Amino acid sequence: MSEKQNLYNFSYPEMAEFIISLGQPKFRTQQVWDWLYKRYAQNFESMGNIPKDLRTKLNENATLQIGTIVDELKSSDGRTKKALFQLPDGQFIETVLMKYDKRRTLCISSQAGCAMGCVFCATGQMGFFRHLTVAEIVAQVLYFAHELAQTGDHVTNIVMMGMGEPLHNYENTLTAVDRLTSNDAFGLGARKITISTVGHVTAMRRYADERRQTPLAVSLHAATDEERDKLIPVNKRWPIADVLDACQYVIEKTGRRITFEWALINGQNDTIDQAQALGKLIQGMLCHVNLIPLNPTEGYGGAPSDTYRVEKFQEVLTGYGVSSTVRVRRGIDIQAGCGQLRDRHTNKP
Ligand code: SAH
Ligand code: SF4
Repeated sequence: MSEKQNLYNFSYPEMAEFIISLGQPKFRTQQVWDWLYKRYAQNFESMGNIPKDLRTKLNENATLQIGTIVDELKSSDGRTKKALFQLPDGQFIETVLMKYDKRRTLCISSQAGCAMGCVFCATGQMGFFRHLTVAEIVAQVLYFAHELAQTGDHVTNIVMMGMGEPLHNYENTLTAVDRLTSNDAFGLGARKITISTVGHVTAMRRYADERRQTPLAVSLHAATDEERDKLIPVNKRWPIADVLDACQYVIEKTGRRITFEWALINGQNDTIDQAQALGKLIQGMLCHVNLIPLNPTEGYGGAPSDTYRVEKFQEVLTGYGVSSTVRVRRGIDIQAGCGQLRDRHTNKP
């Protein structure tokens, strides 16, 4: 493993300390910082206004790389691109860029693997390896920001819906989010970053207490504990009633709407009964439901819901005054579902 410091791990004061430790004047901190967060430099050589001796020292003692890109896939319509990074300890993580209309949305990872074990999820099926560092989260964004900048384009939205449960890696995830939203750093609007959680109740309450402004998406997927237990093992620890209480608490403290995620599995959680149960649970709540036909994975036998079942499900929700959107599955031909590219790699003979 590399001994070099990854600069994306540093807060501004830490960066200043590091620059000084290299025997450099403090004012260089701002210049290096801006190369990272305003100009998306991917190496030290490109930092034009930094003197050669500092660039050499940075090269010797620091890095901007989190690992190597071992695969890149583009969807057939060219609008979705997925990168697979291999980290120094051998772990794989994925990042997906989706270009639709004027949006440039990045789907980023927060952990290598995931400990929550949702049965339908490729990442859940592989188990938990480790939390990502702040640098490993931030670098996924800056890698694509650099690439988009080559054509005068930029990242407009980020969703933490790649590998891992972001709120299980609370400190690093939120430090990364702060860096990405700070005007002194990457400067993306807080409302442009969505954090998706399995319903980690303890962390959601902390999130609310901190009055976080980044929108929260909560993966519900079932409206009764009996059904949710089968799909999401941690439902035993944080059952639906507790998750919804925490959602209400987040809404009160932050004033922000919650999005519920619902992967529609044919004949399983797409029944009229489930739709009605969901409608009853969340009617009147400041929320929205995203309905996503299941993306099939190797380790799970379920299939995406038939179109007429999706329509019927949505109709029932509308009847309860609950707003919902059916989300199109994007980049399906490049395994853009979470965890699937990594799967393809490690299953190689
Ligand atoms: N751990 C977080 C965020 C990562 S998963 C969470 O669970 O919310 C991002 C979203 O993709 C979640 O809503 C998750 O339930 C959903 N998802 C995972 N596997 C899926 C699949 N095979 N088909 C459809 N959605 C899936
Ligand atoms: Fe983890 Fe989210 Fe996948 Fe569940 S759906 S296993 S919480 S990444």
